[in-house]
Amino acid sequence: MLPKKVRLPIILTLVLALGLSAYADTRTHLKPGWNLFSPDQDVEMGRQVSKEAESQLSIIRNGTVASYIDSLGRQLASRAPGDKYPYQFKVVNDKAINAFALPGGFVYVNRGAIEAADNEAQIAGVMAHEIGHVALRHGTNQASKAYIAQAPLSILGGVLGSNSIGSVLAQLGIGFAANSLFLKYSRDAESQADLMGTQILYDSGYNPNAMVEFFEKIQAESKGSASQFFSDHPNPENRITHVKQEIVKLGAAPPRLRGDSAEFQAVKRELLGMPAPSKSGLPSSSNRRPGDTRTGAPAAPSSRLVTYNGRDMDFRYPDNWRPYGQGSVITLAPDGGVVNNNLAWGMMIETFEPHYDRDGRLSLEEATDQLVDDLSRTNPNMRLLQRHERISINGQPALSTRLSNESPLGGRETDWLVTLMDRDGTLYYLIGVAPSADFNRYEGAFDDVISSFRLRY
Ligand code: ZN
Repeated sequence: MLPKKVRLPIILTLVLALGLSAYADTRTHLKPGWNLFSPDQDVEMGRQVSKEAESQLSIIRNGTVASYIDSLGRQLASRAPGDKYPYQFKVVNDKAINAFALPGGFVYVNRGAIEAADNEAQIAGVMAHEIGHVALRHGTNQASKAYIAQAPLSILGGVLGSNSIGSVLAQLGIGFAANSLFLKYSRDAESQADLMGTQILYDSGYNPNAMVEFFEKIQAESKGSASQFFSDHPNPENRITHVKQEIVKLGAAPPRLRGDSAEFQAVKRELLGMPAPSKSGLPSSSNRRPGDTRTGAPAAPSSRLVTYNGRDMDFRYPDNWRPYGQGSVITLAPDGGVVNNNLAWGMMIETFEPHYDRDGRLSLEEATDQLVDDLSRTNPNMRLLQRHERISINGQPALSTRLSNESPLGGRETDWLVTLMDRDGTLYYLIGVAPSADFNRYEGAFDDVISSFRLRY
């Protein structure tokens, strides 16, 4: 008798659990990380950087295109959790498949992304990803970390004290430039933005699979040619897997899924019929900005060195260069070293995750070859000048490789690539960049950074 009584509740519980699971929403709970700034300061910071961005970008102000993207973006943003921001969405006359968001809701979508999307749901996915960066406050989270790295005592003195947002931006060297804090996020941040974007898409009634479809599409199309979206937004394979998992967690599909609209197709046709952007992609009148020295090289690297203490590395660099970025993605540039959002004089430090074989072993040489292959895929005019040779940095084995590429100034540049591996098998690389004619003047400064470079583990 007893076993029967016991069994009945178990079966009931199972039925209930199964019944509920068809509707269960077990979405990943996402929250903004640590931040020194208030949400209002996100808006202030975003507005300042957006002014600088718009003086350098060509914005499409065509009525139908601009109003369609802005209203689609606002609909999506209304579904974002957390603080409310005064979102605005603009279309950039740039054929590269890309989009970016500044803190406080200033979102820019390249025409290339709209032209590449098959339907409204796919472009909504790209925009929802960018909204995720805003809602999760990734820009000011990075700015907070950089601020504390530079001024660790400021947190005791009331954080920003009397500093205005403008002076914080100036102090951190944040502007609208390549590898700027607001344009390059960590892998974690990208993954979070994907998940929140998927949730926003779902909550707005779109088929969340559109996010996966668009990733797969640009991954397929970017083989051989440069897809900026994945150089700014790395690791497509892992990201697709994570998005698929999130779609399962969201549970049953929303009723009456939105996929496409006649308005989207009309906007896409209109863009495809528009003349190609001017070669630089910039408006002809305002394509220069302070520090953009096309008429002359920046000041020579100083021989006085200062120390950079990062989370996972430290090194020394000339005191007239400024570090941008944080974590393991850092650009070091003199004033005027960045031209048209590309580094013309200076150094970049980044990481690369090589592909491991089944036995999980990979030499530094093999990992470096993978990196060089990867770089030449996104830089079709890159050439190998000198194959890797072994060097040692503070007792750690490293490889030194010389490359040449197109300079953003026109003509060729020489790139000195140095690679080394941390204990987990992540490849760290440093690239010193200078126009070939100027390389001799910079080689010593590159060597200063390289020979002082230390990984913490
Ligand atoms: Zn992103």
